[in-house]
Amino acid sequence: LSRFEGVTMAPPDPILGVSEAFKADTNELKLNLGVGAYRTEELQPYVLNVVKKAEKLMLERGENKEYLPIEGLAAFNKVTAELLLGADNPVIKQGKVATVQGLSGTGSLRLAAAFIQRYFPEAKALISSPTWGNHKNIFNDARVPWSEYRYYDPRTVGLDFEGMIADIKAAPDGSFVVLHGCAHNPTGIDPTPEQWEKIADVVQEKNHIPFFDVAYQGFASGSLDTDAFSVRLFVERGLELLVAQSYSKNLGLYAERIGAVNFVCSASDVTDRVKSQLKRLARPMYSNPPVHGARIVANVVGDPTLFDEWKQEMEQMAGRIKHVRQRLYDSLSQKDKSGKDWSFILKQIGMFSFTGLNKAQSDNMTNKWHVYMTKDGRISLAGLSLSKCEYLADAIIDSFH
Ligand code: PMP
Repeated sequence: LSRFEGVTMAPPDPILGVSEAFKADTNELKLNLGVGAYRTEELQPYVLNVVKKAEKLMLERGENKEYLPIEGLAAFNKVTAELLLGADNPVIKQGKVATVQGLSGTGSLRLAAAFIQRYFPEAKALISSPTWGNHKNIFNDARVPWSEYRYYDPRTVGLDFEGMIADIKAAPDGSFVVLHGCAHNPTGIDPTPEQWEKIADVVQEKNHIPFFDVAYQGFASGSLDTDAFSVRLFVERGLELLVAQSYSKNLGLYAERIGAVNFVCSASDVTDRVKSQLKRLARPMYSNPPVHGARIVANVVGDPTLFDEWKQEMEQMAGRIKHVRQRLYDSLSQKDKSGKDWSFILKQIGMFSFTGLNKAQSDNMTNKWHVYMTKDGRISLAGLSLSKCEYLADAIIDSFH
């Protein structure tokens, strides 16, 4: 008898499990719109040219593979905070930002959650309904209690702004409010700048601590600065806050696990102490982070020529997704005779579209049409090509009716 007899089977991950099912499907029409990973028009994975250039430089320099410090690569930590907040943001100059390199967005969120659990054991995290599924796992495993605030309104396929504000107001003072910096996952629906102002008002009033998840900077609008608007607004107001960053999508560094956690504090001595404790938390978990992705980011962001090239490539990626979004909308509008208004697809931004398909309808998409997607009705437009839009429109219309 095995000593592990009592171990039950864990359920497949709702997002990564979709890729596994896709691989097993032998139908040639199959389409993987599950995971949010950018594909070319030929539906192939894409390594950015600036990444290849940076890697070539790194190879030529013959850099070593010594351990990084616990907090990560200094050159990376510097540029990542600057990219997020703007290079001449006063909080950077005043030493009020503690930046620690993390294991991409997920690892950065997890490290910050461990910090919350240790220093705010009474506090609750507030997450949007719906949100990226892993948020719940992260807070559960870090033993941070969480509850949801209203976000998505199925009637308008838009933002339930009143509900969101009411729920943030009703939460216990001093909660950690998890906010998607831009390109909300899974809905693709972001607050407007005016709405962000009002969210900041309530957060301030309630003494909450904003906890931004920034996984798509540059990918929502095509502009790095525009996509950092929400975070910068809260910083400008003098709020203390947390930000988890990821370079999986905007630099296509999915497998390098490169990101960061930033704490913006109100005084530099507090910042130093916070940083020391983040290091204390990281050391027994993974000791120190991997170097390769950090060097790529530091080289690309730190070199004006490569930085400009990156921005162009990012605009191209964001642009391709916008074309696909438009084509899908056109196909649906032309083919569907029911009079349904599909304009919500055009209003959503970023990699995803939240279709409003329920679980049974999403199952029909997969079982009948070989379209793989998450069961909450989310499709990744980054995994769609112009030439497959018509087929997808047929599948969606069939599944709805
Ligand atoms: N947060 C959100 C909202 C995401 O969509 C993702 C990527 N799917 C992440 C964080 C983190 O991804 P990674 O760990 O690859 O950076």
